[in-house]
Amino acid sequence: MKYSDVVIIGGGPAGMSAALAAAQAGVRVTMMDRFSEPGGQLVKQTHRFFGSERERAGTRGIEIVDILRREMKENPLIEIKTNTDVLGIYSDRVIPYEENHVYGRMTGGKIIIATGASEKMLPFENNDLPGVYGAGAVQTLMNVYGIQPGKRVLMIGAGNIGLIVSYQLLQAGVKVAAIVEASPRIGGYKVHASKVRRFGVPILTRTTIKAALGETAVTGAVIADVDDRFQIIPGTEREIEADTICIAVGLAPLSELLFHVGARMHYVPQLGGFVPERDAYLETTAPGVYVAGDVSCIEEATAAMLEGSIAGISAAIASGMHRPDLCAKREEYVRQLAVLRSGETGKKIRDGLSLIAGKGEN
Ligand SMILES: Cc1cc2nc3c(=O)[nH]c(=O)nc-3n(C[C@H](O)[C@H](O)[C@H](O)COP(=O)(O)OP(=O)(O)OC[C@H]3O[C@@H](n4cnc5c(N)ncnc54)[C@H](O)[C@@H]3O)c2cc1C
Repeated sequence: MKYSDVVIIGGGPAGMSAALAAAQAGVRVTMMDRFSEPGGQLVKQTHRFFGSERERAGTRGIEIVDILRREMKENPLIEIKTNTDVLGIYSDRVIPYEENHVYGRMTGGKIIIATGASEKMLPFENNDLPGVYGAGAVQTLMNVYGIQPGKRVLMIGAGNIGLIVSYQLLQAGVKVAAIVEASPRIGGYKVHASKVRRFGVPILTRTTIKAALGETAVTGAVIADVDDRFQIIPGTEREIEADTICIAVGLAPLSELLFHVGARMHYVPQLGGFVPERDAYLETTAPGVYVAGDVSCIEEATAAMLEGSIAGISAAIASGMHRPDLCAKREEYVRQLAVLRSGETGKKIRDGLSLIAGKGEN
């Protein structure tokens, strides 16, 4: 059985930061990711980052990936296993995985789960027609493979992801017919909304999609106004022409492996779905299993990197590296995370975290 002091599942910004923090503290780390290179969501983010300056705001996501990959490759204590899909975690902490189509098993003294999130889908008529995409898929097509998803896109959702992907579509020469948002307000930052409005793209609040139109592929959509309870107001339906419908209505934590290890889970809408109870250093109720990034709460890469660093140092300390400098470094990351979550923008996250703090048995 292969063994590593710390096994990290997921090689996005959270997993990469956890690997660096744990290895810099002196323990051996194995990080596994199902894709051919680590990076997670960051590999498709060509825009300059918002968020904390300390956590590389102003730098493009793809540049942050390059820096983290380089630092990881230079550290001899880190083993990176790519094309490696973790299939589950057994009750005895054995981790079965498929690496380049070959089955393997390993275990670790400590485990950090940093699997990120999956996109939420919307139920509407014909939502399985070719031409209906999640925003992540549209970003991957454009920013990783250089392929336009279509000629005229209807964007559903005016949060930061919907606004940023709309802007990237416009930059790639794709027309954005409209951005449709069921809430009365635009959820994303004003700066992103202003950018797409300058291109003449209407942002229709209190509006939803009722159906996709087309026989074999999308040719348009039926949109309609909604009331305060997000119910369609009869008679407000109208058609809009589009060959692509892009759904950007949020993400949900990929928490299956946390259920496997028996961590106590809670459904917290403010944090995106089912998330684990954990202490200030991100250890879950399953001893020796830590969590970091979007799988712990849907937030931003900045928070994911800070959480990764906290989880990585914590796993190293718990593995025997109990040094005052590491404890001080960890407290500094905890403080930075609290600053990031302060103020009005962090209120939703704080509310969600307070719901799981000390909740105990369900
Ligand atoms: C359009 C868009 C714009 C954004 N802009 C910003 C921004 O400007 N600033 C900012 O701070 N944040 C931004 N974010 C958010 C940011 O990308 C995420 O919060 C961040 O990537 C979360 O990091 P993570 O490591 O938790 O998860 P991810 O980046 O999703 O990485 C998770 C990794 O785990 C791997 N994985 C999952 N399950 C398994 C398994 N079973 N086996 C093996 N590997 C597995 C996946 O392959 C993936 O590589 C943006 C997001 C989007 C979609």
